[in-house]
Amino acid sequence: MSFQIHLLPAFADNYIPLIADLDLGLAMVVDPGDAAVVDRTLKEHNLSLTLILNTHHHNDHIGGNQKLAHDYGAPIIAPTQERGRIKDITRGVVQGDTVTFSTLRGDVIETHGHTSGHISYYFPALKALFCGDTLFSLGCGRLFEGTAPQMWESLKRLRSLPDDTQVYCAHEYTLANAKFATAVDPDNQALKDRVAEAKALRKNNTPTIPTLMGVEKATNPFLRADDPTFAKRLNKMGLAATGTDAAAVFGGLRAAKDRFKAA
Ligand code: ZN
Ligand code: FE
Repeated sequence: MSFQIHLLPAFADNYIPLIADLDLGLAMVVDPGDAAVVDRTLKEHNLSLTLILNTHHHNDHIGGNQKLAHDYGAPIIAPTQERGRIKDITRGVVQGDTVTFSTLRGDVIETHGHTSGHISYYFPALKALFCGDTLFSLGCGRLFEGTAPQMWESLKRLRSLPDDTQVYCAHEYTLANAKFATAVDPDNQALKDRVAEAKALRKNNTPTIPTLMGVEKATNPFLRADDPTFAKRLNKMGLAATGTDAAAVFGGLRAAKDRFKAA
């Protein structure tokens, strides 16, 4: 079986991943905020939509659900814990559940924090992670509903995936995130390299997504809250002054980013 992952730009900075089974002409979509964008791609490639996956209830992720479900008869799989906030869910899923698209198996990973029920989907055969608004390249989602310890647990779960995992984040935030990452970690050569690469890509309007888990582990400050050397540096900067507890360091870092204004 051969599969192809399209990354569809939507709204100002969203990406909608559409996974196609080229042999059978089937497709699955993750977080279709905009039905028209998805519909156009399906028609262009002569694909039939057989599955809709949602990571969380924000409208830029679910806005196209109902039109696509209606037009294609595709079921909607979404977090059980957000049932009340996502309409017409066919199947609710929780940590440890699996979803199936064609011959592919996807693992549901609980990644609460951005919202109270946020989940991510990991497809080992594709080496692909669809993590919505939890992990971004060089950043992470805002804590709208969850706590810092929750989000830190979520990021640790994602960080445990193989380094060659392709990370499909839902927004093009890399260059904006780069400013804060560089401010808190100015001597990190891997970060400098990633920022240079991202700048070159954005110059040509090319997505910086997917990013690689191995690259994020080396460059994303939010994945490094339990690195003692890094925590010490943040302490010195007056961020994350709460000592060495990784969740507290993470919380301090997240709060600092919320306040951060790039010079
Ligand atoms: Zn969101
Ligand atoms: Fe979003």
